Amino acid sequence: MICQHCGGHVEWKGPLSNLPHTECSKCGARNSQVPEIEEPDSWTECQDCGGEGLDTDSCECEAFEDICCCAEPKPSPCQTCNGKGGWEIDE
Ligand SMILES: [Zn+2]
Ligand SMILES: [Zn+2]
Ligand SMILES: [Zn+2]
Repeated sequence: MICQHCGGHVEWKGPLSNLPHTECSKCGARNSQVPEIEEPDSWTECQDCGGEGLDTDSCECEAFEDICCCAEPKPSPCQTCNGKGGWEIDE
């Protein structure tokens, strides 16, 4: 976890039986971690790319080259979700 004040490393402190809190190892602030961003309920992660928005089975170069010879292939944006990692559900 990251401290929202100083960007330092935040760790859990105290025994689990006794309401533990988090403490920043840099500035000592309690429970200062950046809250995890919750995805809206209407958001569905793309099943093809697992929500990353990248198609790790193909390389960007394959758009203009038949065979990828890259030492480190760059994943191309996922075709299914258009590189967005998922989509909103219209209810
Ligand atoms: Zn801090
Ligand atoms: Zn390539
Ligand atoms: Zn996708």
